[in-house]
Amino acid sequence: MSRSNAPHGTSDAAPSEALSPAEWQPATLAAQALGRIDPVTRAVVPPLHLSTTYLRDPDNAYRSGFVYARPDNATTREAEDVIAALERAEAGALLFGSGMAAASAVFCALERGDHVIAPEVMYWGLRRWLRQEAPRLDLAVDFVPMDDPEAVRAAIRPGKTRLVWIETPGNPLCTVADIARIAEIAHAAGARVAVDSTAASPILTRPLTLGADIVMHSATKILNGHSDVVAGVLAGARKDAFWDRLVAIRGGWGAILGPFEAYLLMRGLRTLPLRAAAQSAGALHLAQRLSAHPLVSAVLYPGLPDHPGHAVAARQMTGGFGYMLSIRVAGGEAAAIETAARVALWKRATSLGGVESLIEHRASVEGPGTPCPPDLLRLSTGIEDPDDLLRDLDAALTGAHRPTE
Ligand code: PLP
Repeated sequence: MSRSNAPHGTSDAAPSEALSPAEWQPATLAAQALGRIDPVTRAVVPPLHLSTTYLRDPDNAYRSGFVYARPDNATTREAEDVIAALERAEAGALLFGSGMAAASAVFCALERGDHVIAPEVMYWGLRRWLRQEAPRLDLAVDFVPMDDPEAVRAAIRPGKTRLVWIETPGNPLCTVADIARIAEIAHAAGARVAVDSTAASPILTRPLTLGADIVMHSATKILNGHSDVVAGVLAGARKDAFWDRLVAIRGGWGAILGPFEAYLLMRGLRTLPLRAAAQSAGALHLAQRLSAHPLVSAVLYPGLPDHPGHAVAARQMTGGFGYMLSIRVAGGEAAAIETAARVALWKRATSLGGVESLIEHRASVEGPGTPCPPDLLRLSTGIEDPDDLLRDLDAALTGAHRPTE
């Protein structure tokens, strides 16, 4: 990794036979944040760097590697290096002030006249941004069913298509896109592939190892995991002109994540492998139990063998199928909204990936044009006891279906 030699921290001297951080398993490199020790104090938790500016050397050089905190910041770099290591990102990672800032930077790095292929099922905020902003940037965007690689092939405009944007699992219908197959199709046409991997996390999927060029996360979700930071990140397969453009956009447009947020994010990242495993296990348990619930007409979760994307998900995801699932409530929209109104333990709130479980009626959030059926509730499983969550949801479903006197 190109930036793992950051000058602000050192790996503590290890016995020569010990593994280097590059060989560590994700749990080890996350827990130890690459094993860095503060060189001044020997603190095992790197300090929070708030300085906006750095002293020049007498000959005007900046040998520390830091100049000014808008293009780069030492605390932000700590978290970036851990994410880059987890994603196996040779170019490194860039943290932004939100997932939307990270995602929109990728589209802004394209040239006028470029063509983009995006999924029909994707984070609604980015779909809306693409509909509103892409024409102003003179980008043409086609939305296709990304769970069908042949639809991607058919949408390619030779010589024009420059980016295929994947989101897998897709929010909130949990559609699964085959990253490796789509990368083959896109690369043959000279297009890059970027993957919004927010609903998977680098613990469950590593898109760059499957052929993607860029991976993006809303770090607001499971990367931070505690619902107290808004952040986004891009990680790149290689340093090339496009990556340089992303670095320039983040620095020049002033989109970097601030050090306080980066510090909190780093704290969250240390437990990411544990949380990803627990939240996925909880989501699978809920999906299995809710599949047999008489008041649930469908459960959308890639971990279920009858999910249309299960085989692909089983191939490209490791250690679980993610913390997001959706249910369709028998009784339709009114019963779904009533169910969300009746939960006590689940939190009726937007977002995903926190340690506390969230529930949301998505169609009313996304509005007209959503692919989301009106009877759908999106669930984000936290780390509570899954049977407590199940009992709470069962009581809400039952109450919502009880005829009113
Ligand atoms: N991508 C996905 C899959 C999301 O769920 C979200 C937010 O919900 C985003 C991107 C946008 O991230 P942020 O809210 O951090 O801007």
